[in-house]
Amino acid sequence: MKKALICIDYTNDFVASDGKLTCGEPAQNIEEAVTQLTETFIENGDYVVFAVDAHDIDDLHHPETRLFPPHNIKGTSGKALYGKLDALFKQHENDSHIYYMEKTRYSAFAGTNLELKLRERDIKELHLIGVCTDICVLHTAVDAYNKGFDLVIHQNAVASFNPDGHDWALSHFANALGASVSD
Ligand code: ZN
Repeated sequence: MKKALICIDYTNDFVASDGKLTCGEPAQNIEEAVTQLTETFIENGDYVVFAVDAHDIDDLHHPETRLFPPHNIKGTSGKALYGKLDALFKQHENDSHIYYMEKTRYSAFAGTNLELKLRERDIKELHLIGVCTDICVLHTAVDAYNKGFDLVIHQNAVASFNPDGHDWALSHFANALGASVSD
């Protein structure tokens, strides 16, 4: 079955200690797993999507403006991928099976062409990694479920600032979305 890896929001603002909306240590602790999995998918020739939040400063019409401090602002280093993943991405960014895309909502499907990109390639199985487990990974997983994709969530390569939310989301992936929750 054709598969794709969706690597969600693993950026400086969400991961680095001085990030604007950071998950902190839990997110930093998955750097190796996130980078390794991404490298494996790239080397296998599978489709690899970097889905990255992209916001405008002081966007009065955006719902997150009321909820969170400004983060992943276009043109800032906060929006760049974090650490080893950034280095890996830069080695492969022009490969034909790498797709870097911006999103403006939690879900990588909301208002983007991600579904078209996946359907064009006859991809049925999505592997999700990144942050936050219970926000952007969760919302992307819910949309993927509703669209009929099979899901694999790599539990050692997702993280959240909220341990309870992280645990709840992992059980929700398995019990309500029929996802395979694997290492
Ligand atoms: Zn955001």
